[in-house]
Amino acid sequence: MSKVQNYDPDCLFCKIIQGDIPSDKVYEDEVCYAFRDINPQAPTHILVVPKTHVPSCAAVSADNAGLVAHIFTVIARIAADEGLENGWRVVSNVGPDGGQTVPHLHFHILGGKRLSGQMG
Ligand code: 5GP
Ligand code: ZN
Repeated sequence: MSKVQNYDPDCLFCKIIQGDIPSDKVYEDEVCYAFRDINPQAPTHILVVPKTHVPSCAAVSADNAGLVAHIFTVIARIAADEGLENGWRVVSNVGPDGGQTVPHLHFHILGGKRLSGQMG
């Protein structure tokens, strides 16, 4: 049985959640899955994804906003567990102009160094 709701067989992150592609898991519950980015941009770089295939923040609506609210509670817990007490950044890229490369909603947690002031 699929662990992912609305599973997209062409989606890399659906396959990672499902376990069909290996990942360095950080956290998992019934709603979301967190794992280390394969190409880290900071000493700590973790991706948090819903276990429902939602393409991006552009597809967040009243129907699925609860996923996002839950994920933000998980993000705060992971940041604390990773020892990022001096601060961190959460980012979600949307579409080509936003630099999104994987069309499954995900939040980057970045920390462990003083991050660039550049936001665009
Ligand atoms: P985006 O560019 O869509 O905001 O973020 C996608 C992220 O997924 C990138 O930071 C990229 O390094 C990461 N990524 C791409 N393929 C894989 C993979 O197979 N495993 C892991 N752990 N991360 C990946
Ligand atoms: Zn997906």
